[in-house]
Amino acid sequence: MNITFSMTKYVILSTIAIVLYASCNNGKQQQHNTDGLDSAALAAISLSSYQTNVATLASDEFLGRKPFTKGDTLAVNFIADKFQSLGLAPGNGSSYFQEVPMVEITSKPVDPTLTFEGKNSSITVQYLDDYVIGTRRQEENIVVEATDLVFVGFGIVAPEYNWNDYEGIDVKGKTVVAMVSDPGRYDATLFKADTMTYYGRWTYKFEEAGRQGAAGILLIHDTGAASYGWDVVRTGWSGPQLDLVTDDKGTTSPAFEGWISAETAQKLFQISGVASNIMEAAKQPKFKAVPLEVSTKVALHNTFRHASSNNVIAKIEGTVRPDETIIYTAHWDHLGVGEAIAGDSIYNGAIDNAAGVAALFELAKAFRAAQVKPERTIVFMALTAEEEGLLGSAFYTNNPLYPLNKTVANLNMDAFSALGETKDVSIVGIGQTDIEDYVERSAAKFGRSVRGEKNPSSGGFYRSDHFNFVKKGIPGLFMGSGSELLSTDTTQINTRQQALEGRYHTVHDEVDEHWDFEGILADIRLFFDIGYTMSLETTFPQFKAKSEFRDLGEKRLAK
Ligand SMILES: [Zn+2]
Repeated sequence: MNITFSMTKYVILSTIAIVLYASCNNGKQQQHNTDGLDSAALAAISLSSYQTNVATLASDEFLGRKPFTKGDTLAVNFIADKFQSLGLAPGNGSSYFQEVPMVEITSKPVDPTLTFEGKNSSITVQYLDDYVIGTRRQEENIVVEATDLVFVGFGIVAPEYNWNDYEGIDVKGKTVVAMVSDPGRYDATLFKADTMTYYGRWTYKFEEAGRQGAAGILLIHDTGAASYGWDVVRTGWSGPQLDLVTDDKGTTSPAFEGWISAETAQKLFQISGVASNIMEAAKQPKFKAVPLEVSTKVALHNTFRHASSNNVIAKIEGTVRPDETIIYTAHWDHLGVGEAIAGDSIYNGAIDNAAGVAALFELAKAFRAAQVKPERTIVFMALTAEEEGLLGSAFYTNNPLYPLNKTVANLNMDAFSALGETKDVSIVGIGQTDIEDYVERSAAKFGRSVRGEKNPSSGGFYRSDHFNFVKKGIPGLFMGSGSELLSTDTTQINTRQQALEGRYHTVHDEVDEHWDFEGILADIRLFFDIGYTMSLETTFPQFKAKSEFRDLGEKRLAK
């Protein structure tokens, strides 16, 4: 019902746009409208081609676009062909592809039970029910004999917040036990209050444990602080894990990494002779890490499979400063084929993230149609293996095709909203970069306002591909639709909501006739104007003063 409605509305709107464009272009060298928008470029963004491309990428034929499958081959070829037919130049020399070599590690404990030996008593816990474990080390057998446990609180070293959980303690060869999240979650005067910093992410905690030379790390699960339940940890860790092939073969990571349930942690503290409120104490500044007087022994057996996937990359060369790049990204991969639910086993990934990839095509059309061509190079990048831990973007930023110190910004699109047009637009991790100032200005041109994400404590800023650019000091933008819907038709809104709810990472993320794509198109226009504005300027956006990446950003530009 509302598809027909939107299509009609679209035809009327686009007809008006074309008429407007034609009349103001009449006889004069038109550049911008008075509102500063390039109408020719915006008119090139089309609902019908967008919908068709989303539907194709999310069709069953593409088998959920999992890396190393037939769906991978189909998807990357489709994207490369599309880039070519849109008149984009190959982004990697004469090729549209950047090969990403990966290793699939299947890691299993030799014994499914894990025993913690205390001074007077011991506890034994069960694999998957009470703990999960794995490794990044590319070795067939990993044996860690009698490693002592140390409770390191949040496991954070953050000089700018005057916080060091590893101060005065040597954890080399030991196993650290750490809490999820960061101190700001519990005390609004610490860190960034309830907006999670990178120090709160589990990936950071594993990295820090590696830097400290720990033999192992076990994170204490907490549904509230982690923002997902034990079942998510359990399923996420029970199968094979993909990783990039690195020169060090994972040796800079701890020998093992894992999680223990909250109940297991309680039992562990009981046999370790520490105060029962130790986790509360660890939330206070100046907490000191505590040896637990408990040891454990870990043995893992690993099998490996090597395979490659591809990032697909194209560009429009800048007319004045071609060495400076603005990089649009959207991951093309999704979860593939899984357990059948009511006869459906294909994880189509329509919103996540066929919607983002198809947006790259519309953006390309807009840049090609712009009256004044971009002065900086615009790069369009469809990334692989985001769902496996942001691997395609990690590979790109470790093996960049365009110098990192000349990369102006990364604008990342991952999961748009099909609820319809909104008055506002949402920036994930607001307060991080100057790109937000561009968003403000562009949004105003479209009569839209800017706000932060709904749930800043979930650390969304660290959970999509722009974050690998950020880790190299490149400002990244992760922006999504807002929540103030323009439509006041509650029946219609309810129908759309029902057609979207609970579909994230399920077989039901497939194109639904009740979805409305107008809001996505509005967001694509905004994404265009932000990058286009930047492409005509000479300045480099920076990280904001309070960002934990500020120094990194400055160092990058100094190179
Ligand atoms: Zn995604």
